[in-house]
Amino acid sequence: MNMAQSKNIGLCPDCGEEVRFKKLPYVGQIMTCRRCSAQLEVMRKAPVVLRLAEDAWEEEEEDIDSYESPRSNQRNKRDW
Ligand SMILES: [Zn+2]
Repeated sequence: MNMAQSKNIGLCPDCGEEVRFKKLPYVGQIMTCRRCSAQLEVMRKAPVVLRLAEDAWEEEEEDIDSYESPRSNQRNKRDW
C-alpha cells in the first residue's frame, strides 16, 4: 500500500536487489548495490530504472585516451 514510497526504489539489474533511495534520485546518480556491490547508474526517475555503471566508466577512459593522443602528435609536429 506504499505506492508513493516505491518511487524511490529501483532494482539492481545484476542481482535483483531492491535499491532504496532516501531522497528522490536524479538521472545519472551513481548508487552502490548493498548486496552485490555493483555500481549502478540511475537511467530514469519515475519509475526508477537502474543499469550497471561499470560499462560507462570504461567508455570514459577510452575517450580520454583518444582525445590526448592527437593533441600530443600536434605538439611534436610543431617542435619539428
Ligand atoms: Zn546487486
